[in-house]
Amino acid sequence: MSQKPLTIALSKGRILKETLPLLKQAGIELLEDPDASRKLIFDTTRDDVKIIIIRATDVPPYVQHGAADIGVAGKDVLMEHGADGVFEPLDLDIARCKLMVAALNDAPEVGSRLRVATKFVNVAKAYFAQQGKQAEVIKLYGAMELAPLVGLADRIVDIVDTGNTLRANGLEPTELIAHISTRVIVNRASMKTRHGDIQAILDKLAEAVESRKAQ
Ligand code: AMP
Repeated sequence: MSQKPLTIALSKGRILKETLPLLKQAGIELLEDPDASRKLIFDTTRDDVKIIIIRATDVPPYVQHGAADIGVAGKDVLMEHGADGVFEPLDLDIARCKLMVAALNDAPEVGSRLRVATKFVNVAKAYFAQQGKQAEVIKLYGAMELAPLVGLADRIVDIVDTGNTLRANGLEPTELIAHISTRVIVNRASMKTRHGDIQAILDKLAEAVESRKAQ
């Protein structure tokens, strides 16, 4: 093989589970079960394609800096990172959810300065600034729902799917920031230098997405 293999970066967890069948339909299968391995780099049924499996938040920098040619990550992660300088050519239409503002049930309007707890600090700052609201954004790494219950924050910004997690903690969604789904991103330089290979994979993935929708 003259060229280095194409590298695809996948997000661990729920996105991985839903992406692997689409990749399989596109002719790319892992040679090993990632759940049964501690490896980070995996060979595939195509000897010109390798897959790396990393934290979702690490996918944008790997692709941005060209360590991976292609990446698969949630729109929430891409929005928070900024994902400058990468193409986002395909919506895989999986792991759909919403990025929302939530508050305690019947929470009062907050006068001057809102305290907002979230792991989506950049998204939250941009959203409240655009709303013309002053917000102090507090970065948390998990269990955002706890923050309003213990008086750490007036609002949270979090991912909502069924809304069960919010409800179980006496919270309710108040504003929709964005609809979220899983996207394919591509390094800009790779898109030029490996256009044929990458476009062929994108076309097959798009077909797999369409046939899944038709089911
Ligand atoms: P739910 O109780 O169904 O509203 O799910 C809410 C929690 O599940 C959130 O706090 C997220 O951590 C997680 N979650 C649900 N859907 C997704 C998704 N598509 N991507 C990432 N996390 C999600």
